[in-house]
Amino acid sequence: MTRPRIVAVDGPAGSGKSSICATVCKDLGWSYVNTGALYRAIGLLAMDRDVSLVDGPHLKKILDEFSETVRWEHEKAKLYVGMDDFTPRLNSVEAGNSASFVAKMPMVRDALMPLQRKLSLSAPRGAIVDGRDIGTVIFPDADIKIFMTASLEQRARRRLKQLETSGTSTDLSHDDIMRAIALRDDQDSQRDSAPMRKADDAIVFDTSDMDIDQAIASLKDLIRSKGLA
Ligand code: C5P
Repeated sequence: MTRPRIVAVDGPAGSGKSSICATVCKDLGWSYVNTGALYRAIGLLAMDRDVSLVDGPHLKKILDEFSETVRWEHEKAKLYVGMDDFTPRLNSVEAGNSASFVAKMPMVRDALMPLQRKLSLSAPRGAIVDGRDIGTVIFPDADIKIFMTASLEQRARRRLKQLETSGTSTDLSHDDIMRAIALRDDQDSQRDSAPMRKADDAIVFDTSDMDIDQAIASLKDLIRSKGLA
C-alpha cells in the first residue's frame, strides 16, 4: 500500500502554521493534522479532571483513554474526545500553556507519537502535519520538511488577533502575549525531550513579511514544485 504524501511543518507559536496549513490542505484536497491540538487536549483533560500536570499515574490514565477515544475530523479540522467536541476550547491561553508543560514529559510524547503517525497516515491523499518535532522525530522521512517562522513582534500580533476572532475572551495586551510566546519558545526549544528545532534538511519559511494569502500561495507553490500535488 502506498503511503500518503507527508509534509512536515515545524516552528514556533504564532508563525502562522495552523491557518496556512489548514487552507493549503483544503485547496489541495489534503488532510491537515494539527499535532499541537493533541497536546492541548491532554492539558485540558487534566484541568477538567483536576489532575495535576505532574501526576504521572493519573496522566497515564488520561493518555490511555485519550488514545482510544480521540477522533480527528480531517475535513473540518475538529477534535473530539468521545462525544465531546474539544475544538472550541483548544485555542485558549490555558490550553497552550498546559500543552507546553505536558509536552516536556517523555511519557506524554511517547504516547502521542503513534497517534500522530496513525492520524497522518490515514489521510487519503496527502497530509500536512504541523508541530514542533514532526520533521525531526515523528516523520524524519517526510517528503518535504519546512521550518515556519516569523518575528516575535509579528507572531504576538497574530496571536492576539486569533484570540479576538475566535471569540476567546482575553485581557492580555500585545506585550503580555509577546512575553508569553517568548517563554513558550524557550520552554519548547530547551526541553530535553524532542526539543523544537529545525531539521537539518528543512526549508526555512519566514512569514514575517507575508500576508496570509501570500503565505498560502507560496506554500502551495513549494509543494507543487516538488511534484507532490
Ligand atoms: O502548536 P501549538 O501552539 O498548538 O502547540 C501547543 C504546545 O504543544 C507547544 O507549545 C508545544 O509545547 C507542544 N507541542 C509539541 N510538539 C508538537 C506539537 C505541539 O511539543 N508536535
